[in-house]
Amino acid sequence: MKLTFWGATRQVTGSMYLLELDDEFKILIDCGRNMGREVDYTQPVTNKAFFPFEASQVNLVLLTHAHIDHSGNIPMLYREGYEGQVLCTSATADLTSLLLYDAANLNLKKVKQAEGDSNKKKKKMDRLLIKGDLYLQKDVEDAMANFVTLQFHRRFRIADNAWVTFIPAGHLLGAAHIIVEVQENGVMKSICFSGDIGRKDYPLHIDPSSEIPEVDYLLCETTYGGRLHEDKKTPEDALAEIIQRTCIDIPGRLIIPAFSIGRTQALLYTLNRLYSEKGFKPIKVFSDSPLAYASTKVYQKNLKQLNKEARDFQEENDSLFDFENLQYIQSEKSSKAISNYAEPCIIISASGMISGGRVEQHIAANINNVYCTILLVGYSSEGTLGWRLMNGQKSLKIKDVEYQVLANVEKIDIFSGHGDQADLLNFVKKQSPKKLKKVFLIHGEEESMNTFKDLLENEGFANIEIPEMGQEYIL
Ligand SMILES: [Zn+2]
Repeated sequence: MKLTFWGATRQVTGSMYLLELDDEFKILIDCGRNMGREVDYTQPVTNKAFFPFEASQVNLVLLTHAHIDHSGNIPMLYREGYEGQVLCTSATADLTSLLLYDAANLNLKKVKQAEGDSNKKKKKMDRLLIKGDLYLQKDVEDAMANFVTLQFHRRFRIADNAWVTFIPAGHLLGAAHIIVEVQENGVMKSICFSGDIGRKDYPLHIDPSSEIPEVDYLLCETTYGGRLHEDKKTPEDALAEIIQRTCIDIPGRLIIPAFSIGRTQALLYTLNRLYSEKGFKPIKVFSDSPLAYASTKVYQKNLKQLNKEARDFQEENDSLFDFENLQYIQSEKSSKAISNYAEPCIIISASGMISGGRVEQHIAANINNVYCTILLVGYSSEGTLGWRLMNGQKSLKIKDVEYQVLANVEKIDIFSGHGDQADLLNFVKKQSPKKLKKVFLIHGEEESMNTFKDLLENEGFANIEIPEMGQEYIL
């Protein structure tokens, strides 16, 4: 069989791997959006396919988890003629549906804006649609109609000679490592696709499974392959300390850019615990993202898949996320009105990397305010506003306006959903260096991949590959 790396190669986003069995059965593992991909409007219109392979020839899609950099291009597959199923866990299907419809709505907004605008812009948008770079609601409907859900730990036959098993990966509700087993020429070969690897004791999410079968080939994510998480405090203590300093000791305002799915729920749940168990002063909290609101409902619905602490908390308090002074914001008008709220408050809004979304507006409105603190709680891709703030830039351009950064910028990594270097090492060490034929490092920046590769070699693992985009391996 042949494995081709079509994304998240020497970068973090755009996960997509094509596994072609000897009998030509083709399996696509994840189909994520490359977040750094800019559309080049200057290029002439072409009918070039969106994918570097024939979408209609793929037989099956396996999805590790809902995050858009793993699921975001699935509707494009259907647009380009794919007719098969997408296998994932039920919680992943629920969350992916929210994310993809949200993305389609954003696309529709762009199209509408362009239609009402100058002819030049309309042409650009036509070009995008012709090239197939944008998908709309119909494509998402086609995709979601073909999602088939599997439980964790069930070995499921996907072809005469191939099986899959989903194993809990922590990281996000429903997230899985995927084990693919293939029998060819009388030999059974196995591959583990790590997806994103979570961390222990994360708010709400179960711990990554400690039981990973020994496989022949391992694809391991390396988002934090180069470093250890620094925070040793609990999430409650870390958040309490910052809120005390930024909203209670001074009449300030705390803005937390956060992904709508996963990160926002972890923050709201932690605030709920702080307020209800520790008697913390209930500062006003705005959760400004309709997608986050919808996701909290999915979390609430999938209680059984959350960790024990969360289930116990639910039992005692009847809700994971609703607490005094929490306000979910739906309309754009209400979002803008937050600027007029004069009391200290916490604003949690997307996108997490500050690359679009309502949080951009909040940052623009407060970046000159010395009483404002922007708290970065997750990974930001190079070039995003989150990344610029993280790297201490003193001025920022937001929607073509240049702003001086007078607000305080802080970061904590206790809410990062990814395991750090030690967690990743533990994950690989579940494998036997003797059985393992190759380790492929994916989903990380090149520097952290190289650091992690050295570490693995010191631990006795050989044949570690850092694939390039489009690189093929015969397994
Ligand atoms: Zn993820």
